[in-house]
This record gives sequence, structure tokens and C-alpha cells, in this order.
Amino acid sequence: MQTEVIKVTPENLATAAEQAGALLRDGEVVGIPTETVYGLAANAFDETAVSKIFKAKGRPQDNPLIVHIAKFEELEALVTEVPEAAKQLAEAFWPGPLTMILPKSDKIPDAVCAGLQTVAIRCPSHPVAHAVIEKAGVPLAAPSANLSGSPSPTNAKYVYDDMNGKIPLILDGGQSAVGVESTVVTLALDRPRVLRPGGVTVEQLRAVLHEVDVDEAVVKPLKKGAVAASPGMKYKHYAPKAEITILKGSFEQFKAYVEAKNAEEHFVLCFEGEEKDFPHAVTYGRCGDGLSEANRLFDALRELDEQGAKTVFARCPSENEVGLAVYNRLLRAAAFRVVEL
Ligand code: AMP
Ligand code: MG
Repeated sequence: MQTEVIKVTPENLATAAEQAGALLRDGEVVGIPTETVYGLAANAFDETAVSKIFKAKGRPQDNPLIVHIAKFEELEALVTEVPEAAKQLAEAFWPGPLTMILPKSDKIPDAVCAGLQTVAIRCPSHPVAHAVIEKAGVPLAAPSANLSGSPSPTNAKYVYDDMNGKIPLILDGGQSAVGVESTVVTLALDRPRVLRPGGVTVEQLRAVLHEVDVDEAVVKPLKKGAVAASPGMKYKHYAPKAEITILKGSFEQFKAYVEAKNAEEHFVLCFEGEEKDFPHAVTYGRCGDGLSEANRLFDALRELDEQGAKTVFARCPSENEVGLAVYNRLLRAAAFRVVEL
């Protein structure tokens, strides 16, 4: 299959979105930009189309997908009930990088939810994503547009690298603004619980709902035999080919640790301004600035591979605000290898 890439501008937005919408109505899979990362979209009501997403990504069948809608009103048909908390969160954060999990209605096929009784739903703010959902005329199931296990793509080139020959169309809407996937919060338990941190922070959620729990698996490996609240959390994730180790401590401690290891042989993943101290370095944002770190993390992981890194020592992000999302992704990219300095 030939993969066409269309650069979307304000002038061609309507025609590009219609071309994508027609393919989606036809049961095809299309790569689309969102404000979090690029998504691999298919008609959420079409089980055969949804199965093509799993095939293109090599995604395990038991890892459910997020359903994307263009406006809040579309939520009602997809869930059994819209609780007050969902209305409050949508009011505060939609359109935007927040996914809510609710008990699903019969309209959602099992393939989307991997057999669970709940469905994950998000209303993205990216104008291209919004236009494509509207033109398709159906909700779109869309995971991140990477091969399963690889870092999520934040631009059309990285989608092309992973999906060339597997899907008919990628819309290029520029660099994703947030750079990590959406915050996932479940409203299907007794209390709201964050299953995956993202661009909407735990602090922001608590400002709206007051009581919000954070799942243990956000910063810890799942215990042997435990059932993942969010199936995606149990898989190897975001992993570049290089072996990453996170070093927790000050920059001085980090530098001393790497120098003692023979810096020539290793790569470092550090913050802006720190790279001059190392022969092989890739940066991911400004120290303590979670937004800038999120924005750079997945690209930095791909750049490490492009530069042939074998072993990487990574600076540790803070666990506050968007930093928690960055730490959550980096931990998985590092297969939970952390050294306390
Ligand atoms: P991605 O599509 O790559 O952004 O990943 C979506 C994430 O949401 C994965 O970690 C899924 O396991 C999680 N997810 C999707 N639907 C559900 C659901 N119904 N219940 C719990 N987690 C879900
Ligand atoms: Mg993903």
C-alpha cells in the first residue's frame, strides 16, 4: 500500500479532512495529528476497521483504544450514563488532553474496549483532529500512531517511519504541542483515579473534583500477577533500542557518576544547557519545566536511536505537575531501571 502524506494548511484543511473522512467512512485507518501525539484513527463503530489499527501497530488485542469525539454532546450515546464529574471535567478540560473512562454503551464494539465494560473517551483540541472527526461523521478510535512498544510520534515523519506501507494516508499537522499522551482518569470506580498522567495534571483535576486518586502503577512496576487497571500499563512501552538508566540526584552527582563510567562510551539524556559537559548528549527540555520536557521526551528517545546510542544515562524529571507524565513515560522507556545517587 502507498502511504500518502498531506501537509495540512488553513487553506486545504477542509479538503484534507474530507479526504481522511472518506477513507475512515470506508473502513480505512488514517494517521492524524492531535495536540498530545499523532493518532492512528479508525471508525470506532466498525469492528473490522478497528482490527486494522491493532494489525498496523502490532498492538496486543487486550489493550483498549481511546475513542475521540468532536464535542461533549457525542459522549452520551457512547456511555451508559454521564455522571456529574464527567460534566465538570469536560467543562474544565475539553477539548484537550484529558481522557475519561466510563461504563460503555452497546454502541461500542468489544474490539475497541478489549472486552472491558468501560470505554475511554477524549475530545481533542487540535483543529485537524477536530475537522477529521466531523468529516468522518463518527467517533474515531485512535491509539498513538507508533509501532507498539516504540516512542509515540509527535510529528508526521515519525508516523511515516513506523506506518509507511501500512496505511493509506497521514495528515501532517505539524509538531504536537503537548508531546505525551493524554491524562487518563477513570470515573468508573468509587472515586476518580488517574491511570495515566498527561498534559492535564493531577493538581488541575483536584482543583475541579477535589478527591482524585493516583494509581500506584503510575510510578511503580505492576506487581507480579496483579491486574492492570489500565491494560496499557503492563506492556513494555516507549522503549528505544538503547538501554536507559535513570539517575536520581543532583546534576553534580549525575556528572560524577557518568564520568566514573567513561563518558566516551555512553550517551546522556539531559536537560538543556547540560549537554556541553558530555561527549554524547541529547537534551529533553528545561530542568524543572515539565511542559518543555514533555514536549521533547519522545523525540529525544527517537534521536538517541538515530545516533546509535547503546547505553544511556538519563536525568530524572521532577514528579510534579506535567513532570509526573514525563517521569511515568521515562520510567517505562527505562524498564524501571533507576539508580538513586
Ligand atoms: P494509547 O492509545 O496509546 O494512548 O493508549 C491508551 C491507554 O488508555 C492505554 O494505556 C489503555 O490501556 C488505556 N485505556 C483505554 N481504554 C481503557 C479502559 N476502558 N479502561 C482502562 N484503560 C483504558
Ligand atoms: Mg500508545
